[in-house]
Amino acid sequence: MSPMPVLPTDRRADLHLHTTFSDGTFSPAELVREALQAQLAAVAVTDHDCVDGVPGAVAAAAGHLEVIPGIELTVAFRGVELHVLGYCLDVEAPAVRERLAAMRRQREVRLQQMIDRLKPYGITVSLEEVLRLSEHGAAGRPHLARVLAQRGYVKTAEEAFARFIGDTAPCFVKRATLTPASAVEFIRSAGGVSALAHPARFVPDAWLPELLAAGLQGIEAYHPDHSRQVADRYRQYAEDHHLLVTGGSDAHGAWKANGPTVGSVTVPYAYVEQLKQAAGRR
Ligand code: AMP
Ligand code: ZN
Ligand code: FE
Ligand code: FE
Repeated sequence: MSPMPVLPTDRRADLHLHTTFSDGTFSPAELVREALQAQLAAVAVTDHDCVDGVPGAVAAAAGHLEVIPGIELTVAFRGVELHVLGYCLDVEAPAVRERLAAMRRQREVRLQQMIDRLKPYGITVSLEEVLRLSEHGAAGRPHLARVLAQRGYVKTAEEAFARFIGDTAPCFVKRATLTPASAVEFIRSAGGVSALAHPARFVPDAWLPELLAAGLQGIEAYHPDHSRQVADRYRQYAEDHHLLVTGGSDAHGAWKANGPTVGSVTVPYAYVEQLKQAAGRR
């Protein structure tokens, strides 16, 4: 008698990952390779303000790994910046592409403003150099900092933040941000479901009801910023409020020294099915 095929009993998913299309250092194909090595069943590509890493990941996965088209949006709420994750987006829809292109243009205008502010310090870099580092996806201050280091104006990216582009440094320009409701609306209009990313980083629990009232459908309980205890608390909160639960490593690759690796934080595959169901329900 032939032995029963061994089926993976514990299929896991990492639902928070960045690529070279935002501020990660893995190309979509490299990300997929890491995920396969970690024996994941599914990943979500969640670049900041950009979905252009998704097709490359889908192609590289070649059916061996499920790739959920995702995004991570920055929103302003009560004077701080929060992150909202979107899952199961229709990344091909023209309206979605147009909204994302507009966000990208805003990023480019802001980067150019910071580049202009660097000129009095004798620093000359081009927007193109900075954009190239994000594959013309979602470039931001991390990319500008890296260019300043590569060009020898500073020794490290940290020094670039400290001297020039950190929140209180002279060449910093604020970034345009969405409201929680408009981020949720965008994700919904793209056919996706939204979840509040790593709430422990910035959000006291007292803020959660108002955020959820904006239409957020889920909460990222599992994240490297959350201890086991914190994650369990959010999972319970989600259960009590009929919210979806998500989680992932938020791996960015090599730019962040000792940062999380792909697959270091995962959720059961059943959570992916719940996300897909919620997205399909509308
Ligand atoms: P942006 O969205 O373009 O404003 O860039 C924000 C990102 O810059 C953050 O997610 C951090 O990765 C990075 N960042 C901000 N401040 C610092 C800092 N002082 N040192 C190093 N990285 C920083
Ligand atoms: Zn990031
Ligand atoms: Fe985030
Ligand atoms: Fe992230």
